Order: sequence, then C-alpha cells, then structure tokens
Amino acid sequence: MAQHTSLRNLFLSHVAQTSPSPPMLEVASAEGIYIKDIYGKTYIDFISGIAVSNSGHRHPKVVEAIKYQADKYLHVMVYGEFIQSPQVLLAQAIIDCLPKSFGSVYFVNSGSEASEGAMKLAKRFTGRRKMIAFRNAYHGSTQGALSLMGGDYFKTGYGPLLPDVEILDYNSFSDLERIDKETACVFAESIQGEAGALPPSSLWIQQLATRCKEVGALLVLDEIQSGFGRTGKFFAFEHFGVVPDIVLMAKGMGGGLPIGAFAASAEIMSCLSHTPVLGHITTFGGNALTAAAAHANLKVLLDEGYIEAVATKEQLIRETLTADGIIGIRGKGLMLALEFDSNERVLKIMERCYEKGLITDWFLFADNCLRIAPPLIITEAQIQEACRMINEAVEESV
Ligand code: PMP
Repeated sequence: MAQHTSLRNLFLSHVAQTSPSPPMLEVASAEGIYIKDIYGKTYIDFISGIAVSNSGHRHPKVVEAIKYQADKYLHVMVYGEFIQSPQVLLAQAIIDCLPKSFGSVYFVNSGSEASEGAMKLAKRFTGRRKMIAFRNAYHGSTQGALSLMGGDYFKTGYGPLLPDVEILDYNSFSDLERIDKETACVFAESIQGEAGALPPSSLWIQQLATRCKEVGALLVLDEIQSGFGRTGKFFAFEHFGVVPDIVLMAKGMGGGLPIGAFAASAEIMSCLSHTPVLGHITTFGGNALTAAAAHANLKVLLDEGYIEAVATKEQLIRETLTADGIIGIRGKGLMLALEFDSNERVLKIMERCYEKGLITDWFLFADNCLRIAPPLIITEAQIQEACRMINEAVEESV
C-alpha cells in the first residue's frame, strides 16, 4: 500500500498535469475491452483511451507483430532514408484503403503532427497561405494545429498563433462562400469529435468538396478520431460520398502504439522533396515497431469483420440506453455522444460509472455530452452490460 500511495504522489508531483482533478485510475494491465487497476478492480473501457484501441487492448496479433519486430530491429535511421519493410507494407495497406487518387503516405508520430505536416503541404502545393477550419474543430495541440482550433478558450494565453486562419461554421452552406482563391486548404473533421460526435450533412460536406475544387483549395479531412473503422466505414468520409485531397490519421491507427500519418496523391506529396528538399522531416515517424503494430492492427480491423459489425452495435447501444434524462444520442457508429441537460449531470454520471467499473468521458466543446467510443471488438453482451451501468448511473445522478 505504501508503494501505491507514493506512486500517486509521484504522479502528482513529477508527471506534468493538465487538469486539476485527473481520475487517477492506477493501471495494472489491460486486455480486450478491459482495464484492470492495481487493486484488482476491472473496468470496461468504453472510450478506447480515446478512440485509440479500436482493435482492443493488446490484441494478440498486434502484440505478436510487436514482438516479432522487436526481435528484428527498432530504430535504424530517420524517416524516409532506408527501406524498412513494416513501413512500406503499412503504406501500401493504407493506400489500398483510400480512393484511387491517393498514392503516398507520410508517417508521423501523432495526430497533431499529421495536422502540422498537412498544413505545410497544402501551403507548398497551392502557393497560398490562407487556411480555413470550423467552429468547435480540434486538430491538435501544437501551435499550428491549435491555430485551427474552432474555439477561443483553449487558445487563451498561447498567441500569437498562425495568421490568415478563418473559422467558419460547420454545416453552414452560406459560409462556404468564404473559401476563395486565396485559400490553401480547408481542414474539416469528417465527423467532428470534440464538438460531441457531430456528423456533417452529406449535402454540406459534398458542397464543401465542390467549393474547394472550384477555387483550387485542398480539402483536408481529419480522420484522426473517426478513422480506422470507428464509424462503420474504414474512413468516415466514405459515408458521405466525398474524396479529400489530404487525409489525416493517428489514434486508432497504431493498435495502441503512437503513430500518425497524412496521405495525399503522389503529385501533391512530391512537393516535400524539392525546393526546399526535406520539406518535412521527422526522426521517428514511421518507426519500424509502431509501423509493424499498425499494420497488424489494420489487418485485424479489415479481416475480422469488426468494421461491418459497427452499425449493428451502434443500433444496440441506441436501443439499450433508455434511462430518463438522456436527451439524445448523437454521432455515427461507435463514435457517439449522449446528451444531457448540464455538465454537472455528465460529471456525476461519469463518477458513478467509474464506481461501477465503466470508463466514459466528456468532450472539449460539448460539456453536456458523455463520450461513448468502445473498442470495435466489444461484444453485444458487453455492450448490454455497459449500457446497463450507464442507465443506472443516469438514474442515480438526478
Ligand atoms: N484531430 C482530432 C480530430 C483529434 O481527435 C485529435 C486528438 N484528440 C487530434 C487531431 C490530435 O491528435 P494527437 O493528440 O495525437 O496529437
């Protein structure tokens, strides 16, 4: 016990904190949809920490690929210089999941880095500097990505950020006119995550794509949270009949290891290799171990039927969450938000859920909503168990 107490204290004093009251679950192990704490209590991970563990925690095939690669080589050289089979095979597998216009993948280490690389690429390709993003968008926490954030609160104290960024309203047709011939790129989440799992109208996102084409701006779709099967398609944009110029991915990509990427046509991507050369560089992007894990994860998601089963699981969640007090359920697939009348209610429900052994969460820009994003491998019986806990927590939190 003394050791546990001191771990908590060491965590609080030496691990940089970003909020005044983290939940501080002390993790002992994780497997499938479950996380176990050091006291032996088991939790259902109903958020996949966050939208990462799409194939579950420590999927055996991901772990096997990691062990195999660890026995071969780890880091050998900075990005893009040596041929490393895990990286090459992963690039090919990702291209196979994308529309035909895509030909090239640039690997990075996180979602924010994917956003950063894509902003640079769009500026280089178009020779323009204006960038557009949307209200309540989240594309990452580095300074470039933060400039595209669609809310001022989280930017407080971090200015000056990038100039020439305009924030438009998501799903607003009239705002699309503000995308013009000076616009290098428009960043949009295919389904807005931190806005509370907010999908676009199909017509709106199609018109967004058309407007970008008309004026020669690149459409960058952020699939960092919605990709890798989470919404029932490999990438969420497939629901809406649009094809972006650049797509961003991370989170659910690595099967639990940190990796991200931005992908584009070979023509667009080639900008990074000349005038200046080394247009975007990274030491660890596409690291052999993370790439091997990501490739195994991708194969699990594609080959084991999890993506096809997402719609049925969504339906089950919608039918089972019936407690009085739930105002609505937003989102698509296993990227859902339960709406309540206040943030206090959400926080109480989260606390009750923790007590019962269920991990949920809230959203940056929708604090009256409870986040639901379980691993895609969750079974129907496990969904029923989790939803029972949420229904009880809602009733107990009046
Ligand atoms: N874009 C979206 C849509 C995200 O949800 C996130 C992470 N919440 C990011 C970008 C940033 O990813 P990372 O935290 O890996 O930098």
